Amino acid sequence: MNWTFVGASTIASQHMIGAVRAQAGGEVTWVVSGAAERAQRWASDHGIAKATQDLSQALADPEVAAVYISSTNEKHHAQTMAAIAAGKHVLCEKPLGLTLAEADEMVAAARDAGVVFATNHHLRCSGSHRAMRALIAEGAVGRVLSLRIHHAVHLPENLQGWRINDASAGGGVIPDITVHDADVARFLLEEDPVDVVAQLASSGMGQGVEDSCMSVWTMPSGAMVMSHESFTHPFAGSGLEIHGTEGSIFARDVMTQMPVGQITLRSASGVREISYSDHSLYVQGVADFYAAVAGTGTPAASGPDGIKSLAVALAVREAAQSGRKVTVAYGDVA
Ligand code: NDP
Repeated sequence: MNWTFVGASTIASQHMIGAVRAQAGGEVTWVVSGAAERAQRWASDHGIAKATQDLSQALADPEVAAVYISSTNEKHHAQTMAAIAAGKHVLCEKPLGLTLAEADEMVAAARDAGVVFATNHHLRCSGSHRAMRALIAEGAVGRVLSLRIHHAVHLPENLQGWRINDASAGGGVIPDITVHDADVARFLLEEDPVDVVAQLASSGMGQGVEDSCMSVWTMPSGAMVMSHESFTHPFAGSGLEIHGTEGSIFARDVMTQMPVGQITLRSASGVREISYSDHSLYVQGVADFYAAVAGTGTPAASGPDGIKSLAVALAVREAAQSGRKVTVAYGDVA
């Protein structure tokens, strides 16, 4: 399958070109960038045949079946709508859009056009997260009481651009990381947050956008989720803990792009290290997308998953800004 990549981005160059090329017959044919010189250089650096500033030119190529969108967040909606209108399958980066209305429109358009639309939430593709989900589902921790997510990291210098200073591009730690954590909680616990309380801060990096956030979510089962995201924590490491009536799961360094980290299960029977598959998260995500296109599977994270993770993130920001508990609004499409 030939792809058009929209956005000459870091995530595309570091992970997604390789993830496409790891699939049988997978190739990136076009890159679309806002700057002509950058498009040409990026294409040449990555062995991509065609580069353009004109999205419609790349979308008109009948050889291209799928589009991956990893531009800055404010562009996802219009670029996705154009790709869907051209009959392409779309794998879109998170957050799907800046508003729930945008995300709803994207998912509804894909459904009406009969194309596959997926959200690139990589963490649910990792062996570690899949192993933890299986443990919970088989009752290893009993009834889940709480989930604590630690996702306070240090934003690398090369990414300290629009994320920390441009609200109109979708900057801020909430659209960047809280949205992932919402998807992680939904994936692990297999239920959707009902309401949230939150506080945010600028702790050294954010210029007009938050760089840190702490929030607490209530799940329909009564389980509580505590989530902490930041761009400013150089030594915190990441992780999560799931505590239940029969056991607790401790996972260190698993909120990451790489297949790393340790998982421990503690229960009345003692302490057990949990092993898991160390496959590439991004190769797995693209493989799941291929299965969806072939009609033999479903995307790792669907369009409605992308809507729901965005809805939680937007509720967290609203709760932090208003100082009130906010009920998560998922809209009609999800
Ligand atoms: P980047 O900042 O690397 O790229 C975003 C856009 O910025 C590019 O499309 C490009 O615009 C422009 N740009 C990038 N580098 C330069 C440069 N050196 N000079 C000039 N312009 C530049 O963003 P990320 O790759 O970090 O993120 C892109 C998207 O992917 C976001 O939506 C983000 O949320 C998501 N993401 C998802 C991850 C995941 O694991 N699912 C991980 C990281 C990001 P143009 O294309 O117009 O040239």
